[in-house]
Amino acid sequence: MYQIIDGKKIAQEIKEELKEQVAALKADGKTLCLAVIQVGNDPASSVYVGNKKKACAYIGIDSLSYELPEDTTQEDLLDLVKALNADKKVNGILVQLPLPQHIDEETIIQTISPDKDVDGFHMRNVGALCVGSKGFVSCTPLGIIQLLKRSQIEIEGKRCVVLGRSNIVGKPMSLLLLQENGTVTICHSRTKEIKEITRQADILIVAIGKPKLVDDTYIKEGAVVIDVGIHRDENNKLCGDVDFEKAASHTSAITPVPGGVGPMTIAMLMYNCVNAIN
Ligand code: NAP
Repeated sequence: MYQIIDGKKIAQEIKEELKEQVAALKADGKTLCLAVIQVGNDPASSVYVGNKKKACAYIGIDSLSYELPEDTTQEDLLDLVKALNADKKVNGILVQLPLPQHIDEETIIQTISPDKDVDGFHMRNVGALCVGSKGFVSCTPLGIIQLLKRSQIEIEGKRCVVLGRSNIVGKPMSLLLLQENGTVTICHSRTKEIKEITRQADILIVAIGKPKLVDDTYIKEGAVVIDVGIHRDENNKLCGDVDFEKAASHTSAITPVPGGVGPMTIAMLMYNCVNAIN
């Protein structure tokens, strides 16, 4: 019988811990403030931004909300980011992605002060992760490490296969697993004989953005499978990159979608905000 890794429950545990830490910081006269910027009104982004603001309120972090029109210029957005960088009461800055096409995301991300980059996307933070020094780490992979640890799943010495090499998930995920002494292989769209590799994994992390692509034929009997993907299927039901129905019985533990990785991303954003205090 396999274990369903309950991301919702673990995320709640983390939020309770953070709430206590924030209360202690407040008792010490310290305040925390996250600035959230959204450009345009993409409905999915509005849901994510709303959830992030709700989590801030729950934990006791102040949030400043900037809802900018779709035709905001890159210069205006850069000016806002720079003003928030300089604002001493703001500890964290989050620019919701994707941005409209006329704005260069990389320029915006690299303008956020690395000390306030709670998404962990700035090059200085990515470099810090690479060399194993202190910095903000991308929330989704950070959350996956917590999911594994809090489910008593050992990483050290395990064969870990990461499907996907994005800057936000796949690459930082691989570095974190390496830091935890896993033996890590990264696969991507050009990988040949991919199932031969994934079937060797003790821990398989799937972040490819392809609904239900990974089924039992990719999985070694008894492996741990973490599904990062989030999609709507043909019946408008949420699903992941893993075909849960086919895969689950081949695993020893698996994350569901929804209720697996998703809630952890927001919990770890809150973790980064609390750790942004200086
Ligand atoms: P992404 O930027 O689109 O990257 C996808 C990666 O998967 C790429 O490296 C790509 O390879 C690789 N890939 C695509 N098809 C593949 C295949 N058939 N076999 C092997 N590798 C393949 O996506 P992402 O931002 O990492 O996100 C991945 C998924 O996670 C998406 O569904 C996204 O919505 C979801 N997500 C969820 C959360 C959450 O909080 N739950 C957070 C972030 C992302 P190439 O590099 O060769 O193109």
